[in-house]
Amino acid sequence: MNHFDVGELRSQFPILQQRVNGQPLVYLDNAATTQKPDSVIDAIANYYRNDNANVHRGAHALSDRATEVFESARQKVAEFISASSKDEVLWTRGTTESINLVASSWGGQNLSAGDRILVSAMEHHANIVPWQMVAEKHGARVEPIPVDADGSINMAAFVSLLDERVKMVAVGHVSNALGSINPVSEIISLAHGVGARVLIDAAQSIAHWPVNVAELNCDFYAFSAHKMFGPTGMGVLYGKRECLESMPPYQGGGEMIETVSFAGTTFNKLPYKFEAGTPNIAGAVGLAAAVEFLQGIDRTAADQHETQLLARAEQELDALGGYQIVGKASQRVAVLSFIGDFAHPQDIGMILDKQGVAVRTGNHCAQPIMDQFGIPGTVRASFSLYNTVEDVDRLIAGLAKAKMFLA
Ligand code: PMP
Repeated sequence: MNHFDVGELRSQFPILQQRVNGQPLVYLDNAATTQKPDSVIDAIANYYRNDNANVHRGAHALSDRATEVFESARQKVAEFISASSKDEVLWTRGTTESINLVASSWGGQNLSAGDRILVSAMEHHANIVPWQMVAEKHGARVEPIPVDADGSINMAAFVSLLDERVKMVAVGHVSNALGSINPVSEIISLAHGVGARVLIDAAQSIAHWPVNVAELNCDFYAFSAHKMFGPTGMGVLYGKRECLESMPPYQGGGEMIETVSFAGTTFNKLPYKFEAGTPNIAGAVGLAAAVEFLQGIDRTAADQHETQLLARAEQELDALGGYQIVGKASQRVAVLSFIGDFAHPQDIGMILDKQGVAVRTGNHCAQPIMDQFGIPGTVRASFSLYNTVEDVDRLIAGLAKAKMFLA
């Protein structure tokens, strides 16, 4: 039976049990990467201890076993996101590579001079730069969907940007810089209305709630294992079969081919057509363990827990004074992005670190939205399901000290 008990959950994360700078660690950099439970660490170690071999080359027992765990991980992820087939689940190195794959392969095939690509003004650089690169090659252009002062997409402006020259709409499900949850279902159906394809950058949403890509009806859905309690260097690109079938390979090499000769080469079927070279087998094993970890949790309760932490942090920050929250969209995940009136975000972050509180400072790879707000960056405290009320209080106590030292 699923359950949610924060104390019990924390005990599954060995890294959280340590002291940093003489204080028990308060880890609030979960939007950058989440920590890993024992089950994920053990799954990876067990794979290397017992099953390690190259996959799909099947001449011996270890290779058969490695192939079995690798492909069953793909099946598990397909079910986790409700893809209609595991052929629609491609392994990548992470969200960045997933988006680059679509920009390069789909974009290279489908974009021509005068075409338009819409991305929101608060996208992560990973969902801007690959589009700029392919747009430049083909004479297309990348245009921002305006974002309001509260950090929400201006939907009226989005609608007015849509026409038949828009070929791709690429938006984040959740902003990593501000925590805003974007109305992706509405965005997808409006974009489809003008014949555009839609890519959802799910790097920041995948850890927060279950997704059903078939219901969402997005064309592409990209995420990273390391932001959902899995390993780094491992990611997923979901693509609708009709899109993936018609796209050319992204990289060439072993595994992605059917036959190779100097007269010409034919390509493998999905999903292997997009997976050149030896894949990150241990990464897939670790991701499958992370999926199992999430499936064992009451995710509604986890979401409520995080929302309560955010509400408490906001309230206490307001009461403290001297700090301003940046981005207050009505729909948000538990990300508190803020600035101090009296100091640079980096200085505030350093004082928090001295007290064992880990946050991120800077532009969070979302420079355009920081420029729009006229700030160099923010301090970002991002909560996960293993954070506690005590973590919030330690953050606020740290910020009180920062104010005392720096103001
Ligand atoms: N998009 C968003 C919204 C992100 O937060 C991140 C990671 N910070 C990325 C894309 C890139 O993810 P990765 O570095 O795992 O490829």
